[in-house]
Parts: sequence; C-alpha cells; structure tokens
Amino acid sequence: MPHEVMTEVRERLIDWDGRGISLLEMSHRSEPVRQVFAEAEADLRELLCVPEDYAVLFLQGGASLQFAQVPMNLAGPDDAADYLISGTWSKKAAQEASRECRVQIAASGEESGFVSVPDASTWSLSASAAYFHCAPNETISGVELPELPQVSAPLVVDMSSTILSRPLDVTRCDLIYAGAQKNIGPSGLCLVIARRELIERRMRPLPNILSYAAQDAAGSMLNTPPVFPVYVAGCVFRWLKRQGGLEAMEVATRARAGMLYEAIDSSDFYANPVAPEFRSLTNVPFTLADAGLDSVFLAEAEAAGLHYLEGHRSVGGMRASMYNAMPLAGVDALVAFMHDFAQRHGG
Ligand SMILES: *Cc1c(COP(=O)(O)O)cnc(C)c1O
Repeated sequence: MPHEVMTEVRERLIDWDGRGISLLEMSHRSEPVRQVFAEAEADLRELLCVPEDYAVLFLQGGASLQFAQVPMNLAGPDDAADYLISGTWSKKAAQEASRECRVQIAASGEESGFVSVPDASTWSLSASAAYFHCAPNETISGVELPELPQVSAPLVVDMSSTILSRPLDVTRCDLIYAGAQKNIGPSGLCLVIARRELIERRMRPLPNILSYAAQDAAGSMLNTPPVFPVYVAGCVFRWLKRQGGLEAMEVATRARAGMLYEAIDSSDFYANPVAPEFRSLTNVPFTLADAGLDSVFLAEAEAAGLHYLEGHRSVGGMRASMYNAMPLAGVDALVAFMHDFAQRHGG
C-alpha cells in the first residue's frame, strides 16, 4: 500500500468529513457511500480508459471466485472454453471451470516447469469457444506474456498481479478480473471489467449474486458490498492519478524490474529460471547457486527489513514481488543486500 494512502485513510477513519460517524458505520445506501463507489469507478475508468459499454464491478470472493463465476456467466454447461495454462493460477482457473463447462487446454507450459509458454502458433483453439482464458502474469512462477493473445473468441484475462502497473488496452479484452490485494488495495475485493454485451447473454440460470448482469444493474450493490475496501481502492486510484497515471506506473515498473534482473544476471550467485522473453516485470523469482543458503538469505534479509522474499511454497527459492506501491528505494535496498550477501558467502 502507498504510505500516503494509509495516512489519508487513517485521518478520515473515525470521523467522515465532520459527520460524527465513520465510513465503517454507514449504510451502503447512504449518500457518502454512493459517492465513494461513484468516484472509485470514475477514477478507475479514467485511469484505464474503460469505455462506456464495459461494466465496472466491485465484487467479493477474490480472484478465485472468478475462476468459477466466469464460466457460469459466459458459457453454457456444454460449451467449450479455451484455457492457456502458463502457471499455477491459470491451471487452477481451468480446474475450477471444468466443473462448469467443457474446458479445452489450448497449450500448457507445465512441461517446461512453467518457465516459458508454448508459442501461439502451436495452440489448439476450439472452433466455437465461449471464451479464451489466460493469466497474462503468473504471480508464482514470474512468467508473463509479452503481449495479449490474438484470438477470435472473447478474451478473458486474470490480471490480479499486474492491473494498473502500466497502460492496458481494455478494448482488446472482453473481461478483465483482478483480486485487489496485489496492486489495488485491501483483500476482500475483486474488480471485474466486462463488455456489457457479453455479460448480458445469460447462458444459464444463476443465483442472482453470481450474475454479472445482475450486479451491473445493481451498481455492485446487490447486497451489502465491501464498502471499506472499495473506499481504500478509490484512494489508491486517486494516488495513481497524482503519480502521473499508468504511464508513470509503467516507467516505475520497468525501472524496478530492470534493476533486479540486472543484479541477478550480473552475478553467478543468483539465477532466474524464466525464459528471458517471458520474464515478469512484477514478480521475480530467483535462486541461489547454493540452495543450502536459502534460509540464511531469508533470515538475514528479514533482519535487514526486507520482508516476504520467500518463494511461493509450491516452488521454493526466493521471490520479490514488486507492486505499484514499492518504491525504487526498496529495490535498491534489496539489490544492495543481495550484493553484500553474495560477497560474504563467496559469490
Ligand atoms: C493471487 C492471485 C489469484 C488468487 O487471488 P485470491 O484473491 O486469493 O483468490 C489469482 N490469480 C492470480 C494471477 C493471482 O496473482
């Protein structure tokens, strides 16, 4: 989280604009809450240039609920949907969807150990897929597609770890979803941006609460919404605008990644396993030449104030996740620590 945003949130927490009541205590039907939602949506639309014929939904259940909600809304039970498997998250998405529709794996990078993605020329695409799903940035293995796939089916993208880290051509996508906790704000919120024409098709009977069309019609307030996370997300959107928007975020994103990969590549002590053209600009896994030193590295890093560098439990090693709120100085500190650690341990 940007420090500036947390300070702003703290200052407004107890008394909302002199009303003698906190946002945490207000009805979601109240005017201030409606305004919070309207402003958050307007700022997000401005940042990402979201056209009017796309719905912006603030939902719950994290990105993981979208693994099931997407097929429920966009496909009938007998329809095919194409999935590109480029890492743990897209694999999970396909597994969840397989209970809801006919999942067809277009290609999988699993055989490579998720360090690269099969070339698009080798993908097997269904003749009439309800949609094509992929995760442009795989958060765990640090594998990123250099560009959005060109497919004829509606394109559904899980952008949980890279949304708002650079400009995105929303019109190239038909549905974008992102759990808020990586690049937006508090957990408990999931953002969905979807072409209205697509979500209004109603492919099967659904509980209202799971229907994108119903949520759109209700302004994401079919029931009591996660008011506070939406408010904090709105503060983050305003912060992004003050920073210079997504062009400025892209400069920062590239600077952070450039610095860390340079440190890894210029040393025999560290390595990143991902094929260079698929390296993530946000999540950078790395290993030590001597894996026996992993726990020493992590303990010393923690003591130096460098938190959460342990790789995901499914892959091990180290991983630096550098979201929008990570200042360049944070990467600077990591690189200096890595250099020092390598020198002390014979690198
Ligand atoms: C973190 C993550 C998820 C899971 O998010 P939850 O909100 O915990 O369900 C899904 N996809 C990607 C790409 C992620 O990074």
